[in-house]
Amino acid sequence: MQKRPFVTRERLEAIAAEHPTPFYLYDEAEIRRRAAELNAAFAWNPGFKEYFAVKATPNPAILRVLAECGCGCDCATGVELLLADRAGVTGRDIMLSSNDTPDEDFRAADERGAIINLDGPDMVACLARALGGRVPRTVCCRVNPGGTFESSNGIIGSPADSKFGMTPAQLEAAFSELAALGVEEFGIHAFLASNTQVNDYYPRLARQLFEMAADLSARLGVHIGFVDLSGGIGVAYYPDDTPCDLAVIGEGVRRAYEDVLVPAGMGDVAVFSELGRWMLAPAGALVTRVIHEKVTYRDYLGVDACAANLMRPAIYDAYHHITVMGSEGAPCTRRYSVVGRLCENNDQFARDRLMPECHVGDLLFIHDAGAHGHSMGYNYNGALRSAELLLRTDGSVELIRRAETPADYLATLDV
Ligand SMILES: *Cc1c(COP(=O)(O)O)cnc(C)c1O
Repeated sequence: MQKRPFVTRERLEAIAAEHPTPFYLYDEAEIRRRAAELNAAFAWNPGFKEYFAVKATPNPAILRVLAECGCGCDCATGVELLLADRAGVTGRDIMLSSNDTPDEDFRAADERGAIINLDGPDMVACLARALGGRVPRTVCCRVNPGGTFESSNGIIGSPADSKFGMTPAQLEAAFSELAALGVEEFGIHAFLASNTQVNDYYPRLARQLFEMAADLSARLGVHIGFVDLSGGIGVAYYPDDTPCDLAVIGEGVRRAYEDVLVPAGMGDVAVFSELGRWMLAPAGALVTRVIHEKVTYRDYLGVDACAANLMRPAIYDAYHHITVMGSEGAPCTRRYSVVGRLCENNDQFARDRLMPECHVGDLLFIHDAGAHGHSMGYNYNGALRSAELLLRTDGSVELIRRAETPADYLATLDV
């Protein structure tokens, strides 16, 4: 399938005339479309809620759009809670899914009435200590069943190698302890595979967690209010990837729910998600301009963005499709390495990639950068993080984060 930018070359040039490249551009219409698709897939579950993984795209303007679509915020740190504040997201619309959590983050989450998700068995005591001996009415625990996680396509995750969560036995002990401390509503959370390209990840995970929920409810007499399937649904980064089908995924989870929870008399359990990548990646792009061409042993296009703006290719060797604006559909007659300015050879957005002929001055649209893109930015080599722009549904463009300046970079030296 051909990947198409969500703006035309003319529109993008007009935007770039006002906002110098590089910048991130997000498409509000696509964000709303995706949220609607997710909500429709889980409409069978009255309590369903997506808690958007704030770390994927930590911008309050984006979080506000998502909140208007019924999504809450999944935060991992106290600073991410401040972003939820900025977006006006409060109370049970916030999930603190953290790990290695400092006491002050438990307090900050509790002050906001957020749902707190505990990553380890020791966190029960830490939470009670942080809150002065009290526990919230609702607490979630993150379970890690160990082993490997298999889909119909084979092994897609390796929970036993993951630092996250507690063992099923520790989960049971934590629930007992929390119940004794006065917790009335429990949640179960797990995140066992990342960027999955299959439709049965959520359904298989759901069945496993629903069985655990029914078992714990029966044996401990605790009330399970929700099961949080967390993140992990992937997107089609390559043009030939088949995108996940949310309707199929939602239906698969419904079947597990009907098979396991309904017969256990637990037809009131809410299903939660914490998607980041699936919600936002295709709705955002890194826009950069070619500023140099150099032919040595390969043909290099030097652009004005670098790995400090989008580090996934550098650290994961991740593929991000690149459209040369104005050459959509043109034959790919050249092999280019698209590189940034960092003094690191891994600063390459593409290596030896077949692309249409390209020249200094051309705008490149780096696809699927809307999640885990700008947010993973860093300042190596004195590289500065770019602006973020939101293309509104009425066609206007809003600056939702300005570009960093050298003064921002130098500010922390003033001690
Ligand atoms: C990163 C993360 C997510 C989102 O993961 P995606 O792969 O972007 O869907 C959700 N929940 C938690 C706890 C996470 O750490």
